[in-house]
Amino acid sequence: MKIYRKEELKTRLEKISGRGYKAYKQIQASYDFNLYTLHFDHIQGDPFASPSRVCVEISREKSGFPSSLDSNPSRRLAFEDFLGRAFARAIQEVLKGRRRSFGSGKSGLIEIDAGGQEVLKRTAVLATDEKIEVRFFVGLPASGRTILSRLALQMFFEEIPKIVQKSLIYKNLDADELDQHIEVVEDWHIIQSQLDERGLVAFVANNSILPRRSGVDPRPLIGKNVVLFKSPKSLEVELVVSGGKLISGMGIPKGVTLIVGGGFHGKSTLLDALSLGIYPHIPSDGREYVASLPGTVKIRAEDGRRIEKVDISPFISNLPFGKDTRSFSTDNASGSTSQSANIIEALEMGAKVLLLDEDTSATNFMIRDQRMQRLVVKDKEPITPFIDRVREMYERFEVSTILVMGGSGDYFDVADTVIQMDEYLPKNVTEQARKIANELPLQRKWEAPEPMNLPSPRKPLKNSFNPSRGKKEVKISAKGLKQIVFGKTALDLSALEQLVDTSQTRAIGELIYLYSQRYLERYPDLQSGIDALYKDIEERGLDIAVPCRRGDLALPRKFELAGAINRMRTLKIK
Ligand code: ADP
Ligand code: MG
Repeated sequence: MKIYRKEELKTRLEKISGRGYKAYKQIQASYDFNLYTLHFDHIQGDPFASPSRVCVEISREKSGFPSSLDSNPSRRLAFEDFLGRAFARAIQEVLKGRRRSFGSGKSGLIEIDAGGQEVLKRTAVLATDEKIEVRFFVGLPASGRTILSRLALQMFFEEIPKIVQKSLIYKNLDADELDQHIEVVEDWHIIQSQLDERGLVAFVANNSILPRRSGVDPRPLIGKNVVLFKSPKSLEVELVVSGGKLISGMGIPKGVTLIVGGGFHGKSTLLDALSLGIYPHIPSDGREYVASLPGTVKIRAEDGRRIEKVDISPFISNLPFGKDTRSFSTDNASGSTSQSANIIEALEMGAKVLLLDEDTSATNFMIRDQRMQRLVVKDKEPITPFIDRVREMYERFEVSTILVMGGSGDYFDVADTVIQMDEYLPKNVTEQARKIANELPLQRKWEAPEPMNLPSPRKPLKNSFNPSRGKKEVKISAKGLKQIVFGKTALDLSALEQLVDTSQTRAIGELIYLYSQRYLERYPDLQSGIDALYKDIEERGLDIAVPCRRGDLALPRKFELAGAINRMRTLKIK
């Protein structure tokens, strides 16, 4: 690859001044800025199109970051994450100093995909032992469609050098802030890695802030009304993190855990924190030391979804007209069939912990009481309610459940642990719940007709995945966080509550395609194919998701990728 001197970029920009926008294509190359190399990976076609993709590459030596900062995978994740955020902050500071407008459309834009509350593996920053690569977006300036070279020169020769100085040179950064960022993420990983051996499914540190600012603002709630988390003594555990430091908090044991309490007392808030405990968070998020097992999957009802050949018979059998539920397909699932399919699909991918909230569950899926059992006899009710499977799933398959249930005490009988949220503070009420269950025994009958089996593997058919649209061979795009357009079909991901970043959604779109092209036929079933794909990502990075260098992807979990595939309206299973 040829690298030009930076003066060449200047010459080229001056030459195309005042010309039509397409002439910008002439600067597509790499340039040596002494401190770093600037690569133009893609040049936008006009000022209103997606901005141009550029990349700064700087050697570890010149940037000065000690190798101890990213000496293991968790530290490297945090290090890269910090650099992305520092770069974003530097962009803001530098652009604040601008006096004039930079022209039409996206002219003058400089942007990086730095992330929100969660710390995710993303493609915006890539650190190795030799170098650091930062991929970002630039809107090449124009007035109408006429190139404004002077402003482009300002961007590439004044602003971006300043941004690099402020964010990618160790001595110009706040070393304590960087250390803390890395330590928080590393400690979170250390906590998560201890859960299993300690017999826990999740941990919530004392003094965590769980509530969020609003339903659309994921930053921590602030103000004097915020109640900091405090574990009940009987559930308190102490975990050792880096440097021998101790962190204490509530450990939720494996098994069946019930979260009860009055309305508005913080039950869902706790469950939501556990559901995002699969990701590390940035310092000051409030959930830095909330961790759940990697195989934790939030389950909800999702009527209207499509289901393709899923064995939902553990929960639903004997549908009207003898419809087979061992290989159940529908274009329009009900609350209970969708919730069943969501569980079975999660188990198929190896889920170890299920999270359910009464707020988003189908009532008939959760409970069936004595009176209803008498009125609607078992022969007429296809549903085996979750209450009759939840213990079996734990005892036979070691799949734990954490369940928010404020409305029914029936679950006291099947719970190992009962936590009551009382004015936002957890209490361990397991003993009381057991006592009440003895004093007021349930009259309802046990309803599971036969033991359940783990789902058998399913193999998707290749022709389910057609990304073409009109003349374009491949057309895949994320429309916000919860929708993907894959070829001609729209894919609704709004029920995948553990998806947190649009860049994950974008990655899912690309990974579906990659899976269908390279893994689907080589592996016997969905799970083994996706596992192989993730193994390759672990070894070679998320860059394998796309054919060219791109800085706008973040790693989703395999559960969300499989979840997306399972929801495709075009999916066909062999
Ligand atoms: P529930 O599920 O028990 O009905 P939620 O978890 O939805 O209750 O919480 C009700 C409200 O209380 C929400 O607006 C939430 O933000 C707020 N909240 C939750 N936990 C706390 C806390 N620890 N401190 C202050 N407010 C909280
Ligand atoms: Mg609730």
